[in-house]
Amino acid sequence: MSAGVSLDDSASQQQFPDVIELNVGGRLFQTTLMTLTKDPNTMLGAMFSGKHRQPQDKDGQYFIDDDGDTFAYILRYLRHGQFPPTSKVEEVHGSAVYFGLQDLVEELELLPQILIPKVRSGFLSHYNSINTTIKQILETAVKLSYTQPLSPRVAVIMCVRNTANAVYKERAPSHHCAFSGWPETSSVHSGKWDKRKADLLVGPLSLTSISEKLYVDGLVKEMVSRGYTVGREGIGNCNTGFETQGAKTVKGAGCGGELYRILLTWQLALSI
Ligand SMILES: [Zn+2]
Repeated sequence: MSAGVSLDDSASQQQFPDVIELNVGGRLFQTTLMTLTKDPNTMLGAMFSGKHRQPQDKDGQYFIDDDGDTFAYILRYLRHGQFPPTSKVEEVHGSAVYFGLQDLVEELELLPQILIPKVRSGFLSHYNSINTTIKQILETAVKLSYTQPLSPRVAVIMCVRNTANAVYKERAPSHHCAFSGWPETSSVHSGKWDKRKADLLVGPLSLTSISEKLYVDGLVKEMVSRGYTVGREGIGNCNTGFETQGAKTVKGAGCGGELYRILLTWQLALSI
C-alpha cells in the first residue's frame, strides 16, 4: 500500500476549504486556512499547502497528532501573535519547535523557563561527571541511612580527587582518603572525626577550568533543583591516606584532595 505514495504525490494534491476543522489529539478547533498557512516555511504551512495529504478523522476533520491544550496556545499565537502564560512556556516551546514556528521558538528561548534549563544542561553535559557523582552521593547516603534508620539526616564525607592536583597524582591512586584532627564544628555528629575515612571517593576528575569547590557547589545546586534538601561544608583536605600494602592497611600521608561533608535531609515522617 505504501509503495504507491511517492508516485501518487501529484495525484494526492488536496484542496482545503477556507475554514478548516481540526482535530488535535481529540480536541476540536476551527480556524482559517489563511491562519494556518500564514508562514509557508512552517510545518503547518507545509501541511496545508495542498502538497501533502492530511489525514482526516471519521467526521472529516483534519487530524493533527499533538496535545490539544498546547495547540490552543499555538493557534492563539498564529491568530494574534499572543504568547503563552508563564506556566505553559515549556509545553508550547516543544510544540513550536515541532511545528517549525521559528519566530515563536526564538522568543520563548529568551524566557527563563527555557533558557535556565538549557544553560544548566550545558553545564551538566560539560561536567558530565556531576550526574555520576550525584548518583554516588545518593547511593552512599542511602547505605549510611540504613545504619542509622531513625536519623532524618545523613552526612556523607566525600573527597573530591582532582587530577589537576599534583599531590593527588602521586598518592591518591593507591590510597583511601581520610583526615584526622579536624575540629568538630557540626552539631549533626557528636562522634569523633579523628582519622575518619571518606565515605566516598569522587573521581578522579579532571577539573581544570573550575575549582573543586565550584564543582561541589554546582552539584549541590543541581540536587536542590531536583528537590533534595542538601547542603555542603568544606572540612579540609585529605591529610591521612590509608594504603593497602599486601594484607595490611597502613596509614600514610594525605593526597591533599578536598574533603566535603554533604548533608542530606530526608523528608521522613516522624511517626513510624
Ligand atoms: Zn587522599
